[in-house]
Amino acid sequence: MRLQDITACMSDFASEALTVQQAQEIIRQYIQPVCGMEKLTLRQALGRVLAADIISPINVPAHDNSAMDGYALHGEDLSGLQELSLKVVGTALAGMAFTGTIEAHQCVRIMTGAVLPAGCDTVVPQEFISKISDSEIRFTVGNLRIGDNRRLKGEDLAMGKIAIRKGKILTPADLGLLASLGLPEVNVQRRLRVAIFSTGDELRSLGEVLETGCVYDSNRYTLYGMLTRLGCDVLDMGVVQDDPEILEATMRSACENADAIITSGGVSVGDADHTRRMMERLGDIAFWSIAMRPGRPMAFGKINSLGKSAYFFGLPGNPVAVMVSFYFFARQALQQLMGADARPLPLITVKSDTAIRKRPGRTEIQRGILAMRDDGELGVSTTGSQGSGILRSMSEANCMIVLAHDQVSVASGDKVSVLLFDGLI
Ligand code: AMP
Ligand code: MG
Repeated sequence: MRLQDITACMSDFASEALTVQQAQEIIRQYIQPVCGMEKLTLRQALGRVLAADIISPINVPAHDNSAMDGYALHGEDLSGLQELSLKVVGTALAGMAFTGTIEAHQCVRIMTGAVLPAGCDTVVPQEFISKISDSEIRFTVGNLRIGDNRRLKGEDLAMGKIAIRKGKILTPADLGLLASLGLPEVNVQRRLRVAIFSTGDELRSLGEVLETGCVYDSNRYTLYGMLTRLGCDVLDMGVVQDDPEILEATMRSACENADAIITSGGVSVGDADHTRRMMERLGDIAFWSIAMRPGRPMAFGKINSLGKSAYFFGLPGNPVAVMVSFYFFARQALQQLMGADARPLPLITVKSDTAIRKRPGRTEIQRGILAMRDDGELGVSTTGSQGSGILRSMSEANCMIVLAHDQVSVASGDKVSVLLFDGLI
């Protein structure tokens, strides 16, 4: 499907005034996941995308077992009695089951995790016991009911049920869960290969001399960091001059070697039209102006070269705009491309400790510092100057304050939505 097939179905589409949600929706409809998987051992699989549902091959736990240290008994012995005396006939340890048979009015000393002996369905915890000898215990029944302190076979996970769904990005808990099922290996999607380069004649790479009017290229480093956290392999193609031939050659080479290409700079209104014409020739590319700040201009689509294709994200040049556009558009798209269960960024609502000026009709993203105030409530304040070239504001921030499209100015004490950097991939 071409981009225009998607946008033709949107009643209020206008490439020169797209809302953040519209742009996200077009991207979501356009991206087709890449195919390819590999089998990895559990430790290697951390952070990778699960390629197929994991069906539990066993019951977890495998047997009914005790949730407490205490004494296992026949639940029927409890009925109607206030005080109960039982004969102790053996011991069940975790990993060493009691194999004998328990008669009525008998019990077995049992430890947490030990298999409940045949006939036992209830455990009286150690601390309920008022009198103990080697051969007998005495306790008050009180609130103890049949089935108390028993973990049922398969209650964590029943054999044949889905333990983890395809598309899950594997967490430490998932590795543990897979291990608990006895699975040493797992099928994951192959890693994405993402090519990056920066455009701009004023850009200098590290190690080069900085002449007047030039700046060091920082975008390739923020992009490298964000992509690496996302689990992508990064193909860094350096700085490319604002020259249509060099640009085309670089685009083609990136397309032939990567699943996606992310560039920065060169997509603003003032930028050379030859770039647009060249890109349009290479594939299906749209140039958008998104109602957001920072990060207004963006190019998106797919290019082709030598029978290969790659998705393309042409991000703006300003360093903060690059990061914001990456998080709002590229991140979820790349997760979708890698076959992951892509979810929108999780926002939390907190009080703003500062007044923020906001114009309705565009999404505004400010850099924020979220902190616990003296009254024990969370509050967020802005990092001060919010120019989209001020990368320091991003470095000092621990969150972004997301002011929605229709929102007006915020007074101190109003609630705002915040996107935490911590844990963001
Ligand atoms: P542009 O979108 O190309 O017009 O760039 C907007 C601003 O971002 C200009 O001030 C550029 O110098 C700056 N800029 C563009 N690319 C980079 C980069 N890779 N690293 C640092 N600054 C950049
Ligand atoms: Mg430029």
